[in-house]
Amino acid sequence: MIEVEGLVKWHGPIEVLRGVDLSVQKGEVAALIGPSGGGKSTFLRCLNGLEVFQGGCVTVGDLRLEANPRPADHAKAARLVRLRMGMVFQSFNLFAHQTVLANVIEAPVHVLGLCRDQAVERARALLDRVGMLGRLDAYPRQLSGGQQQRVAIARALAMEPQVMLFDEPTSALDPRMTAEVLSVMTDLAREGQTMVVVTHAMPFARKVAHVVHVFGEGRVIESGPPERIFDDPVQEATRTLLSEVA
Ligand code: ATP
Ligand code: MG
Repeated sequence: MIEVEGLVKWHGPIEVLRGVDLSVQKGEVAALIGPSGGGKSTFLRCLNGLEVFQGGCVTVGDLRLEANPRPADHAKAARLVRLRMGMVFQSFNLFAHQTVLANVIEAPVHVLGLCRDQAVERARALLDRVGMLGRLDAYPRQLSGGQQQRVAIARALAMEPQVMLFDEPTSALDPRMTAEVLSVMTDLAREGQTMVVVTHAMPFARKVAHVVHVFGEGRVIESGPPERIFDDPVQEATRTLLSEVA
């Protein structure tokens, strides 16, 4: 479903990604772990076209993002890629001046062209799934961080993406709210949603991920099933990382 080959990304003078190869199969949950500054967020942003890159390529189904694209080509390819990928960020990025319901129907109505009734029906089902059906008329500021994040997940799902990308969706949350959000993500994974999750929540990665990719210094230094990565890491950098978060 996603194939990344030799991805190279420079931020000014810094080579942030130095040749990342990674693939994600349909229905797979991939967890990305690694030290701060290791390039995980940059990688996710390259996957869905929020960043351009200087080497390698990203393939999503039959779509392809190329290195050093012409701006017009990139805009077009990125728009199509983003239609297939929902993204949930660390910071809650709901539209502050819109209610929960309005947030979730916005893109289905304006981007997919769904009629309002259809979009509302879809939104209600998704908000029910994330336990937020009771708060349709609330504004983001009236919700806890965990509630906002669950609405953000429903909003992304409303576009029926083929892949969901999560960038540390729980790192700004307290333990109880973290548990609520991880529980929603666990359900999604069990339903077969393809997911790429940057996370520091190691118990979650161990329990839910099919594959763990360890980022370090702009590369994937090690990949494997969670049991192997957590119980028997090959790379010294992985051992150090795991001892720091344990
Ligand atoms: P964290 O775990 O702290 O979120 P990360 O693995 O997500 O870290 P990135 O945010 O991808 O790491 O950053 C990788 C490197 O790229 C860092 O050195 C960072 O300073 C640099 N970087 C990221 N975004 C930019 C930017 N917009 N401009 C310049 N440098 C950037
Ligand atoms: Mg990050």
